Amino acid sequence: MPREDNSVDMLPSLSPDLVFASAEKWNDEEYRDDFLEQFLGHMQKIESFDMLFAWSDELEEFLWTDPNPPPWRMKKGWNNQLVPVIYRIFQKCMFLVDNSDELDACKINPDIFSGFQRKEILKSWHVLLHIMMDLGETPYIASGIEFRDTDTKSVRLLCDCDQKKIDSEIIRHPSDWAHVVNYIDFWPRDTDRKEVERLRLAVEIASEQKFADLQRRQKQDFDFDDKFVEDLVNAEPRFRELIIKGIAKRVNLSRADASVDRGLNDEPIRGREGERRMRVSGEQRIHYKLVGNTLVFIDYYGPGEHDKGLK
Ligand SMILES: [Zn+2]
Repeated sequence: MPREDNSVDMLPSLSPDLVFASAEKWNDEEYRDDFLEQFLGHMQKIESFDMLFAWSDELEEFLWTDPNPPPWRMKKGWNNQLVPVIYRIFQKCMFLVDNSDELDACKINPDIFSGFQRKEILKSWHVLLHIMMDLGETPYIASGIEFRDTDTKSVRLLCDCDQKKIDSEIIRHPSDWAHVVNYIDFWPRDTDRKEVERLRLAVEIASEQKFADLQRRQKQDFDFDDKFVEDLVNAEPRFRELIIKGIAKRVNLSRADASVDRGLNDEPIRGREGERRMRVSGEQRIHYKLVGNTLVFIDYYGPGEHDKGLK
């Protein structure tokens, strides 16, 4: 599908209860806060992880032109706060699928969403899922609050036309995205500031996936020198995972713990005040310096490249 510019090769789908809040419950403050936290939380993750989500013209109509719009669009005081935020993310992140083959609804098993009140929207979403199946996508489903708390972690999508079956994982909480995306997808493509931020995101996600226990204790601030990012852009792709994991491990350890970690082999560089080196694996090394409490990564050396200034 034509979305090469985006980092992450995933096309999530938004459960209808994520977007279309219940008009009856909207005046309940607790419901409303929970709804908005969930909706905006998922949308912010989709945007910050540079993903697109699948959407259709029909769902777009239910959202913006239907005489019965979701309450966050209709209620005064909410619409002028929320509409600009939501509209902007939709414009940026939605991937409109095309239904020129006029596919009908697929089935979902177990159908945990069947209690959703707006049946016409529910059906339209089933059609969208069917189109996605037809495109060979395995959609993650971003759950709203209504069906979030079931024990069901994934559902099977089924269609009659060609007997396809696809298992779709349900992302119940916005924070769960960090566990399903591949941090290697955020590898910097050049030394542009935007790419440096992607590298930072890769380290943050790896921290969450691999070092969550350490993270709560002593996460350090970190930054990357331009030279370092350039080294990584030129590094061999097969080392990407090890490099990200090495950086993530180091930023999640205190200096004392890093220096006794046998994998990192973290040590000062003789004759260079404040600079240290650590091992990524085998012959790969990273040099960094401490600027205040911030770790600034400055050089990467692949196998066969000698650390400058070392014996
Ligand atoms: Zn089908």
